[in-house]
Amino acid sequence: MPLMVKCKSCRGEFSSKYQMNDTSSWHKPNYNLEISLICPGCGKTNEYSKEDHFFK
Ligand SMILES: [Zn+2]
Repeated sequence: MPLMVKCKSCRGEFSSKYQMNDTSSWHKPNYNLEISLICPGCGKTNEYSKEDHFFK
């Protein structure tokens, strides 16, 4: 189950470099994430938080 993000520049979806095997900690309310990702579609770098990630 890959973690995906939606690019904030071109709105294309791509798989985050942040992946996890254990999703139980992901659903904890205090679990947070801040990661900068480069979109393979447009090449722009944006900051992505937990809310920007989704499972596909
Ligand atoms: Zn993009």
